[in-house]
Amino acid sequence: MVIPGRKSDTRVTEARGASIDSAPTGSPKVGSPEGGSAKIGMAASAGSPEGGSAAPVGAWRTATVKVVDHPGPNAVRLVLDVPDRIDHLPGQHYVVRLRAEDGYTAQRSYSVASAPHEAGVELFVERLPDGEVSGFLADGVQVGDQLEVRGPIGGWFVWRGNSQALAVGGGTGVVPLVAMLRHAVHIGRPELLRMAVSARTYQELPYARELLSGGAIVALTRGVHPAVTRAAGRLAAADVLSLITSDTTGFVCGSAAFADGASTLLVQAGLGADAIRVERFGATGS
Ligand SMILES: Cc1cc2nc3c(=O)[nH]c(=O)nc-3n(C[C@H](O)[C@H](O)[C@H](O)COP(=O)(O)OP(=O)(O)OC[C@H]3O[C@@H](n4cnc5c(N)ncnc54)[C@H](O)[C@@H]3O)c2cc1C
Repeated sequence: MVIPGRKSDTRVTEARGASIDSAPTGSPKVGSPEGGSAKIGMAASAGSPEGGSAAPVGAWRTATVKVVDHPGPNAVRLVLDVPDRIDHLPGQHYVVRLRAEDGYTAQRSYSVASAPHEAGVELFVERLPDGEVSGFLADGVQVGDQLEVRGPIGGWFVWRGNSQALAVGGGTGVVPLVAMLRHAVHIGRPELLRMAVSARTYQELPYARELLSGGAIVALTRGVHPAVTRAAGRLAAADVLSLITSDTTGFVCGSAAFADGASTLLVQAGLGADAIRVERFGATGS
């Protein structure tokens, strides 16, 4: 899709995560052939229930926007029709590329909220202040528009629906968890997936109603809401203690700060560092 009025002197690269596979490289990897450090999971673990066969990867496609709605003033939900779509696994993401008339491009990653069985690829984008791509997607996209997308992407932060999982998400970090929830319900195995999610307010929690009805523990850090019974405050180890079994894989997704805090509390609650997979959204250090 062409971005009107874009100048080519702004950044082209992603804040993070433009690569084919979001699993970072170069770090010691828990459970991987070269692993052994206590660093929380960064690469596919051979032999784990979720490891093994490769996750699907798709090429660039021109998608048509089928649905645009605004669940809140700073968010947009897009459903895309992707031709020759390769079914994703819950947890994977797509890259969206915007292109200006002068050839300038900007691309960002967005997790898929829809489950593999759904017809469209659903994305949920939060508009960031001065956000180059999120601002355009939130305000400038209409039904019938075409978007360049590449996906599915990501071979590490994926849940195949065949093992016990505890998914912990903060803010838009809940988006891939929604795909996991929908998939668990679709395959008739909702008991495999436990969820704990957090946002400042109920209004800022994407898919709040769906997550609550799926049994997620919801922690609101700056507000109360009649639908949320838990007292306001950050997620704590006590929230997740009873959700962990000996064969649980943890999936943590959100800002870098959220991901670090949530990973720590999962370890405090008894989950091994090598059983935790982390997806960080946003600028390094945010
Ligand atoms: C694997 C992956 C999946 C993602 N999935 C989603 C998703 O489902 N929904 C979603 O809304 N976003 C998601 N993101 C984040 C998304 O890729 C973009 O980083 C985000 O939309 C901001 O892009 P922008 O061009 O609007 O902002 P930019 O123009 O790049 O940045 C604007 C300002 O915001 C800061 N910033 C950039 N990214 C973030 C961020 N994520 N949080 C806080 N501050 C930031 C920058 O430092 C800068 O100050 C995902 C990121 C990754 C790596």
